[in-house]
Amino acid sequence: MELIRVNTSMNLNKFLILNRRLHLLKSKAYINGDWVNAQSNKTFSVLDPSTDKPIGTVPDMDATDAKRAVDAAAEAFKTWRNTTAKERSYVLRRWFGICKENRDNVAAILTAEAGKPLSESLGEFDYGNAFLEFFADTARHINGEIVSSPWPNKQILITRQPLGVVSVITPWNFPYAMITRKVGALMAAGCTCVIKPSEDTPLTALVAAQLAEQAGVPKGVINVITSSRENAAAVGKVMCQDPNVGCVSFTGSTFVGKILYGLAASGVKRVALELGGNAPFIVFPSADLEYTVDQALLAKFRNAGQACVGANRFLIHKDVFDEFVTIFKNKISAKVEIGGKYAKQFGTNFYEATLLVGVKPDMKIYSQEIFGPVAVCSKFNTEDEALQIANNTRSGLASYVFTKDLGQAFRMSRELEFGMVAINDGILSAPEPPFGGIKESGIGREGSRHGVEEYTDIKYTLFSGLAKGM
Ligand code: NAP
Repeated sequence: MELIRVNTSMNLNKFLILNRRLHLLKSKAYINGDWVNAQSNKTFSVLDPSTDKPIGTVPDMDATDAKRAVDAAAEAFKTWRNTTAKERSYVLRRWFGICKENRDNVAAILTAEAGKPLSESLGEFDYGNAFLEFFADTARHINGEIVSSPWPNKQILITRQPLGVVSVITPWNFPYAMITRKVGALMAAGCTCVIKPSEDTPLTALVAAQLAEQAGVPKGVINVITSSRENAAAVGKVMCQDPNVGCVSFTGSTFVGKILYGLAASGVKRVALELGGNAPFIVFPSADLEYTVDQALLAKFRNAGQACVGANRFLIHKDVFDEFVTIFKNKISAKVEIGGKYAKQFGTNFYEATLLVGVKPDMKIYSQEIFGPVAVCSKFNTEDEALQIANNTRSGLASYVFTKDLGQAFRMSRELEFGMVAINDGILSAPEPPFGGIKESGIGREGSRHGVEEYTDIKYTLFSGLAKGM
């Protein structure tokens, strides 16, 4: 099965309302506090994915522009790193507040360029903005340690210092939240950044920068460079290898993540990689099936199935398989037939919600990230078999388990080879817990205090000669 980009339709009225809300659209990139063109003066169009019609143009930047942005961020770092935690917290909270005032405007732009329904854009906005609020608080709690010294006249001090310039490269599926989740954390830590959004969704990033400017984020702390897919590799090379870059923070596919990891390795740079998933959604006989299917719908069809934590493989115990599939099918049927084809009434950019059974592990759809509204259900017999199937992937991002057996829940949490395990829930992301994967799903965590610590280096200082008279 070929994967396709899925969009959800909106009616004409909604479209007109959206158009009135697009006044924050920018057509220039943002470097060192200035709204600028590419040095080549080239541009590219941003398309509405439901119609393929242009909604704006932005600069098509290349390696030279990327270097300029990194230099600006490096210069700003000299000052930003020495601001107090209280000042950084204050700026982040102002940014959070101004974004909140512009909630509807940001969501309209999100819908226009990412193609998601307005309700989902508002949801992404609230989720993404919560990171700015959370990191405004966290900024004031990045503490060091004084640990017990093995020497009588020496003191050991451990401090956390910002990494420097962070290169932020983000995907199209959550164009706002993937920026705030990184930039909120790195700014709290005292770092500055250059953001390269996807060619498909640069406008949301530019709006975020515009609101940051209004909030008083100093020039150079946040820079946004826009580039077409053609220039992505050249821009990425600078962002991964420039000596002034301290960290590469990437969210996107495992394929591109590995390329960037390789580039960053030559400078032994810190990386934070949030990559693709292949989440199992495991249902045991003790689960409440009606509730479980409701959670399955959230875990599978949120963002039209285009979420890294989206359920990718439904593993259902044989005793409840038929009942689960029937309830699942009926809940989808409520709206459309059981898919498997383009939703032609909306054009060729839309695909129907689809449920597949009888899928075998050697099929492509079983092992790769589906990233679309297609649910795949398979049977299992025992807990061990469910674990074996679930763990049989190189991905290790999110996983879901539905059971009322407490011991089983604990065993699954311990044995599942995934960075995140949701027991009896289909949604698990929030600013407070650490988000991230193991195996080929990434390195590092976002959100929580761990998400801020990703952007710091630990420094050990030994104070010696403390004895009197020395
Ligand atoms: P992608 O193709 O890997 O692209 C991600 C970003 O990398 C885009 O900005 C892209 O620019 C850029 N890029 C591509 N090639 C590059 C290169 N050689 N050098 C520098 N930058 C380069 O991913 P996507 O299709 O946008 O997003 C979907 C993927 O992201 C899925 O696999 C999903 O699971 C993953 N994801 C993971 C998380 C998480 O938290 N773990 C969250 C969301 C999404 P262009 O778009 O302009 O090519």
